[in-house]
Amino acid sequence: MSKKILILGVNGFIGSALTETILQRTDWQVFGMDMGDDKLKESLGHPRFHFVEGDITINKEWIAYHVKKCDVVLPLVAIATPSLYVTDPLRVFELDFEANLHIVRQCVTYKKRVIFPSTSEVYGMCQDDEFNEETSTLVLGPIHKQRWIYSCSKQLLDRVIFAYGVHEGLDYTLFRPFNWLGPKLDNIFSTKEGSSRVVTQFIADILHRQEIKLVDGGEQRRSFTDIDDGIDALMRIIENPEGKATGQIFNLGNPANDVSIKELAELLVRLVGTYPGYQKVADKVKINAVDSKHHYGVHYQDISRRVPSILRAQTALNWQPKIDLKTALKKTLDYHLANAGEKLDEE
Ligand code: UDP
Repeated sequence: MSKKILILGVNGFIGSALTETILQRTDWQVFGMDMGDDKLKESLGHPRFHFVEGDITINKEWIAYHVKKCDVVLPLVAIATPSLYVTDPLRVFELDFEANLHIVRQCVTYKKRVIFPSTSEVYGMCQDDEFNEETSTLVLGPIHKQRWIYSCSKQLLDRVIFAYGVHEGLDYTLFRPFNWLGPKLDNIFSTKEGSSRVVTQFIADILHRQEIKLVDGGEQRRSFTDIDDGIDALMRIIENPEGKATGQIFNLGNPANDVSIKELAELLVRLVGTYPGYQKVADKVKINAVDSKHHYGVHYQDISRRVPSILRAQTALNWQPKIDLKTALKKTLDYHLANAGEKLDEE
């Protein structure tokens, strides 16, 4: 049956990719709100895409009307960039927690299915070899380490959504992305120092001929996940065969792509060097260690290793991430290098 999907934050990294896939592969309608539309070129104008430019914290009537009208709600508006957790923690709380709580409550009121982005950050500094949705302990640092306000805001909302599920019958699925990457993650031309996620930051550093900075030496590890694998999982969650995604939490990450940040930097430099005309750029890149206190400030604290257990998503959704790190980085580089040429020449 044709579904009506409401996506708040539809111009984001996940929202824009999901919309494209929905319009290509299904007969569903997408209703979306965002403050911008620069990532939506492929979808704008499509007869089944209904886009409105706006701020979710202001346009509450539009949201209430569309929560009522739609079958599934994906509230994807959030600040999810670590540097902002330490520079603007109150905005993180207001947007990621308060604004989204309002939307979750509307899903409760109108009895609508909500698919909500939790985060791999909720596990914090958990020492488990693989983070498990059911058994892992969620470990955060002291209050003055403001980095954890994002994790804590998301964790509390996870708990609120779970409670609405148990006590008021809310139909929900929580998903936890593990370092998803892809072409439209962040813009390489608006990366102020430390303002974007690591993959985009490093690509910007290389292309702008700046040094790559390895925070505290770059021994910390992440499991990087291609956006297309992530979207494949989200499509399965929305389709929800036999209701298997209902009331569940899913880690969505690729444990096979677990690398140190230093290895990531070296791999990226090698890959950039394989593009015609970029060998010299790659040869000149400097990779240096920096102190996290200097890079992010004293309120930062890092996570040394973050590997998901994906057994649940494999079993319930029959999902398997397929894209290895090299391929994922190449897809991202293809996009940036194709779009970078002229602008970089002007720099
Ligand atoms: N990082 C780094 N240099 C940079 C940006 C990030 O070494 O220029 C490190 C950062 O300290 C963290 C990892 O890369 O350990 C991943 O950072 P990201 O901002 O992508 O998000 P996180 O995985 O921490 O949520």
